[in-house]
Amino acid sequence: MRVVKIADQDNVAVVVAPTSKGDAIDGTSLHVLCDIPQGHKVALVDLKKGDPVIRYGVILGYALEDIKAGGWVNEFNLALPSSPEVKDLVAGSKGKVLTDLPERKTWMGYDNGPDLPAGSRNMLGIITSVQCVAGVVRNAADKIRREILPNYPNVDDVVPIVHPYGCGVAIKADDADIPIRSVRNVSHHPNFGGQILAVGLGCEKLTMDMILSPEENNPDNVIILQECNGYDAMISSICEAAKRKLEILNKRKRVELPLSKLRIGAQCGGSDAFSGISANPTIGYAFDLLAAGGATVLFSEVTEVRDGVHLLAERCSSEKTVEKLKKEISWYDEYLARQHVDRSANPAPGNKKGGLSNIVEKAMGSIAKSGHSPIADVIGPGETPTCNGLIFAATPASDIVCGPSQLASGIVMQLFSTGRGTTYGLQAIPVYKICTQHSMKKQWPDLFDLDAGFVVTGEKTIAELGTELYNHILDVVSGQKTYAEKYGLYNDIIVFNPAPIT
Ligand code: CA
Repeated sequence: MRVVKIADQDNVAVVVAPTSKGDAIDGTSLHVLCDIPQGHKVALVDLKKGDPVIRYGVILGYALEDIKAGGWVNEFNLALPSSPEVKDLVAGSKGKVLTDLPERKTWMGYDNGPDLPAGSRNMLGIITSVQCVAGVVRNAADKIRREILPNYPNVDDVVPIVHPYGCGVAIKADDADIPIRSVRNVSHHPNFGGQILAVGLGCEKLTMDMILSPEENNPDNVIILQECNGYDAMISSICEAAKRKLEILNKRKRVELPLSKLRIGAQCGGSDAFSGISANPTIGYAFDLLAAGGATVLFSEVTEVRDGVHLLAERCSSEKTVEKLKKEISWYDEYLARQHVDRSANPAPGNKKGGLSNIVEKAMGSIAKSGHSPIADVIGPGETPTCNGLIFAATPASDIVCGPSQLASGIVMQLFSTGRGTTYGLQAIPVYKICTQHSMKKQWPDLFDLDAGFVVTGEKTIAELGTELYNHILDVVSGQKTYAEKYGLYNDIIVFNPAPIT
């Protein structure tokens, strides 16, 4: 029976297939003492009650009872250790820069000018200031796509940026800045090429001047539905404005660009015990190659990294970055504490069934997405990075919120790893899905862009698959479609709003 052990000091390993009582464990003289489900942990040594259980070289928790070598370690016999204290975090030099880089260092994208990330797609975004206009904007976008877009072959799509924010909210609340900047930044996404077409209702709290610059906020770019005479007039004024924008967007051409013009993100969802063994370290390796080559790569999901935050601090190259990390993590701790929620609310039941016993184990697997590079900056949810390299964007872990938050940060592609399967996608950017094992790829062959199961079986190393992924990323941002794009699997733009709804 093949097992995967990550660090030398680990006293548990993960079984790669369902294991029956009596099965021999490869590379040891041990036999399994009971049936253990696939992806779950087996003890490699005798553990006494209170002993630390170590995986990824870190303490996942403490044994709640004596567990013999060959026994099953699971959520019921493992106690959660305490969270690292935020105030004790210190910067360090544990980040490692990869030096053995691939020859390929350029991609074909849409340049947006100096100091701005380039686009991976050429799209007309229709911005909205409030959810009330969503129906009209969606209908207008459908009509434009059907009747007008075919005249502009260089434009990929029309994207209605409809979101739940804009009115019935405490717009001056302390935390309202998060959804406001998220809407503002999504509206100025690199894939929209600087063209502004905004639709508002007219009486909402989120006014156009809060999303658009003074130069952008003019009647050429902005349509207010309460100023239109009926439905047909609304649709036709949006279509007329769209034609003017499409005329300009249609002139855009892909050009060869350096990696410094590329900004991509990663998240995971529906994780299992293999997420941290195959898919996430593969993303981490590709991220290390991209970061070393000058690109900007974002990882996120505060509640999923919370229990490994001391390890992130040690990779922050400056005290200033650690201070930003402390600020974001403390804010999130307080946000959860306000509702008496703690970190044990994560993992989800599906995670536990897949073998993840607790949030520490999930955190270590999640952090693997960030590779080993130094962390160049920490940003809040929906903020845009101010430098290149590896960035921690402190968003919620919720898939449907993390996606739009990173979108607001200007990513032009998102890598999405999953162990249990998800059909997630975003219309404005390619979402590229990576499954953790062969069985998942076999079940959904037409939904996964990459199968990281080769790492589980030992057929490929993380460096080999990570280099393949690096090349796929450059293909996709240069125009190759992902499965989510092929089928048009697009989730809603749920901006993170921690402020009160009124
Ligand atoms: Ca997630």
